[in-house]
Amino acid sequence: MTERKMIQGNWTCCECNSAITELPFNPRSTDDLKCNDCMAKSRPARESFEGNWACSKCNAAITTLPFNPENTENLTCRDCYMKEKAERRAGKMIQGNWKCMHCGSDINELPFNPRDPESVSCRDCFQNNR
Ligand SMILES: [Zn+2]
Ligand SMILES: [Zn+2]
Ligand SMILES: [Zn+2]
Repeated sequence: MTERKMIQGNWTCCECNSAITELPFNPRSTDDLKCNDCMAKSRPARESFEGNWACSKCNAAITTLPFNPENTENLTCRDCYMKEKAERRAGKMIQGNWKCMHCGSDINELPFNPRDPESVSCRDCFQNNR
């Protein structure tokens, strides 16, 4: 068990005027000290903002966010956020010049180096074929 070192003193809470006799730190300014109760009150539990936004990727409705978005144009829902994070973690895309074996559209990046460049499929076809 570690006991936190408390500093003894004789201060008053700037909010409720109750006496503060110890603090976990040495206050630089004694004018805006708050007792534990007021401190707990002033700290919001976990802020979340309610709203009516849409995910910029999948258009899913977003109703709460842990922050107040300044720019609502590029919000991402949790799913898309996680997906993006996973993709970023998965690493670099490989740049190249391939054609989709199904629809013939140009592919210029792939998450892997294709062993057989004749049988690559674009993201759309890949998803449709699953
Ligand atoms: Zn207080
Ligand atoms: Zn989304
Ligand atoms: Zn295709």
